[in-house]
Amino acid sequence: MVLRRLAVFVLASCVLLFPPVSALGQNSAKPKPHVVVVSVNGMELDVTRPLLLEGKMPNLSSVIKKGAYGKLRTVSAPNCPRVFSTMFTSTEPEEHGVTGFIVGGITANTNMLKEEPIWSILSKNHVTVGMTNVPATFPVMPVNGYMISGMLTRGKNCEDGVLCAPKLSEVEGGDAVYPPSLKAELLKNVGDFYIDCERMPSAADLQGHESAEIDAWLAKVQLIRDQQTRLFAYILDHHPTDFTWLGQSCEDRTGHWLYPIAPYNAGYNPKINAVRTEAFPDQYVAFDKVLGEILKHVDENTYLIIVSDHGIKPLREFEETDPHAHMDHEKTTPVIAKHDFVDGDDVPGSFFAMGPGIKQNLRLMGFAASVYDIAPTILHLYGIEQPPQMRGHVLSDIFVNAGKTVAER
Ligand SMILES: [Zn+2]
Repeated sequence: MVLRRLAVFVLASCVLLFPPVSALGQNSAKPKPHVVVVSVNGMELDVTRPLLLEGKMPNLSSVIKKGAYGKLRTVSAPNCPRVFSTMFTSTEPEEHGVTGFIVGGITANTNMLKEEPIWSILSKNHVTVGMTNVPATFPVMPVNGYMISGMLTRGKNCEDGVLCAPKLSEVEGGDAVYPPSLKAELLKNVGDFYIDCERMPSAADLQGHESAEIDAWLAKVQLIRDQQTRLFAYILDHHPTDFTWLGQSCEDRTGHWLYPIAPYNAGYNPKINAVRTEAFPDQYVAFDKVLGEILKHVDENTYLIIVSDHGIKPLREFEETDPHAHMDHEKTTPVIAKHDFVDGDDVPGSFFAMGPGIKQNLRLMGFAASVYDIAPTILHLYGIEQPPQMRGHVLSDIFVNAGKTVAER
């Protein structure tokens, strides 16, 4: 079964001739729904909820009021490539093949996907697709639109592509932009941008100048966020697509070593964990401003879906003796929070959706939504039948008229 599906997927990727990016939006007979997905790596509700109450995330707050939100059940031992590929395909990690950052000694990449991802299914169904900075999309693949890769892109100073990022001009080992002509356009009009965050500092780097290292790293994170915001604005203005997915991932990286933990938490080091206790919450305040820019492109006929692949929590005390407790992400960083707990229900992601026909002010209880449901729900918005291999289901509870097979603009 997998082989047969793989064959179909490869055929779809290679043989279909998609229109050039300049022709986007001009060739569809009937307008298709506009769907914008914003993914935030590891957005943790324990941290965002207090910020919402304090009024520090007004844009996310407005989305919650106008739509549906809740926890998003994730997979076991969640990490970014493992969960994003599950969202792309609605299949289990062992089925789609991207089981972690490194698979069989090789950095996770799109050539490993054994199940058809959402961008391919949408493209085949004549939906125009735009993906920007979405993790685990390197090397980019031909789509009916454009694709700019995100986390796990390889290049200069980031040869393995793991938890670091080259600038667009420094990408090596595959294409970061489809179609290739878009790369020159971006370099000209947006400038040379970092595709993702850089590595977290090591314990050796931090020793003796903790505050300066933390501040320098956080300044770089904000630089990258500013560059991404410019990129998002440019791409939304100049290359509108039916389906658009924008990714953010520096927030999660910040949480791993700057989560505001208490002295009784495992790994507490006052030189690091007492100096910038607002650093991690501030990431979400900054994300909310990015969301504000995106919302300028979201009208009442557009569906907006915000997802995070998992949350992040402080290490547990008993993990002091667990040899893997501090091994999350980059092994040299003094990590004090993580997400790859065996029980994924310890670190659920989050889900927010608003748009025509989506219930307002709806709170999804328990684990009503899972990462497996993202692709089927997006396909539903376009009236595309869910392929049999997909394990999730359409989140029909969020729609006012759940009986309708196709949401209407
Ligand atoms: Zn992480």
